Amino acid sequence: MPNFDPRALAVIGRLHQAGFPAALVGGCVRDSLLSRTPHDYDAATAARPEQIQALFADRPQHDAGVRFGTVAVDWDGLWVEVTTFRRETGYADHRRPDQVVFSSRLEEDLARRDFTINAMAWGPDGLVDRYGGRADLERGLVRCVGEPDRRFEEDALRPLRGLRLAAQLNFTLEEATASAVRRHLPQLVHVAWERICAEFLRLISSPGGERILLEFPQAAVQVLPELGPAIGFDQRNPHHRFDVYSHCVRTMGQVLPSPALRLASLLHDVGKPETFSLDESGTGHFYGHDRAGAPLADRALERLRLPRADRERVVLLVKRHHLPVEDSRPWAGRWINRLGAEALLQLLALERADGLACGTPPVPERLALLERAEERVRALMQEGACPTLRDLAVNGRDALAAGLEGPAVGAALRDLLDQVCQGMLPNDRPTLLNELRRLAGGM
Ligand code: ATP
Ligand code: MG
Repeated sequence: MPNFDPRALAVIGRLHQAGFPAALVGGCVRDSLLSRTPHDYDAATAARPEQIQALFADRPQHDAGVRFGTVAVDWDGLWVEVTTFRRETGYADHRRPDQVVFSSRLEEDLARRDFTINAMAWGPDGLVDRYGGRADLERGLVRCVGEPDRRFEEDALRPLRGLRLAAQLNFTLEEATASAVRRHLPQLVHVAWERICAEFLRLISSPGGERILLEFPQAAVQVLPELGPAIGFDQRNPHHRFDVYSHCVRTMGQVLPSPALRLASLLHDVGKPETFSLDESGTGHFYGHDRAGAPLADRALERLRLPRADRERVVLLVKRHHLPVEDSRPWAGRWINRLGAEALLQLLALERADGLACGTPPVPERLALLERAEERVRALMQEGACPTLRDLAVNGRDALAAGLEGPAVGAALRDLLDQVCQGMLPNDRPTLLNELRRLAGGM
């Protein structure tokens, strides 16, 4: 028997005792059969929302989805989402069912689910597996429940969900499902960008994200059309064995799965096609592609409704991904101050990944340099050697008192901060007051 949380089993147990058919469904069944710990529990039942609420009146509940038949029940600290069995009919807009019809049969509820491995249930009589989900789990296959074209026609997000699921579990797509995914990806235009963004970020942050995007470039281009020209773009450069798109995807596969870093690696060379030039020897160059890529990334991520702070971080990383790296104390301090330590560490990780994803042997000296620079940044952070403007031992009032005025105040403070961060001045009040007086005196 799969290892379900006993609290989730208690929830369906109580429903059952009260005479309502009930089962655990979806991701938690799939993950338990894979011996993975489910990250949330969904139960489905013949009980109607009011009946669920009444039956669990002694437990904390929240009913955010109650209109759609969902009541979340807190059983000793575990939230279980309990949803009334339903049938869905008519998907005129490729997005949402036109209406949700409650049902009293588990089978109907399973039939509306997207993939066989998501369409299993665990009830009092054990596993309910009408579509061969268990066999597909064993074979590592993502397969539609029913006819793929019809299922994707109903809901245009499903092709992307299928790719995300395959990336997350390191599965492959069953053949008919895979070709229907290719046919239906363009229908994503009917889906809200927020939902696309959520699935896409999970896809690229998953262990199989690189493999899936190499196999389904249409998915990346559907979500980030700015990458379209990169597909198949020959770099005509001895350092690069891969086209621009494959190089970007492989770079993405080399960085830790934080969404901003993954997006930045995927987009880091998005400016290459438009900056391409050939020299007399026939070698390709992309002068200024880092700066050219920044507005393209910005536009793509704004459209995707990525939160502003993440978007700004990605754009910064794209724009700066050719920052010349030095193994020196002033270099580390200067760039911690200018970019922030976290962004700088991400930038070093991106530069490293970039070098590892060219299809040509990486240069050991370059990798060693990046590693030493990273160590320096971490050491400076540990020592607290790079204050921010707020922690500087002098402030605007001191600058005014020293005789500076207007924009010169901010400029002087930034200049002092830069020097402190580079280790050229101590963050010590008398020293910095002296410096301010010197700057005010025009010396
Ligand atoms: P995880 O929580 O790990 O993402 P999950 O399978 O629980 O995996 P959810 O998005 O939480 O994914 O969806 C719960 C279940 O609802 C799925 O397992 C699936 O059975 C069903 N489901 C979700 N989205 C769809 C959809 N667009 N079409 C059909 N069924 C869906
Ligand atoms: Mg879930």
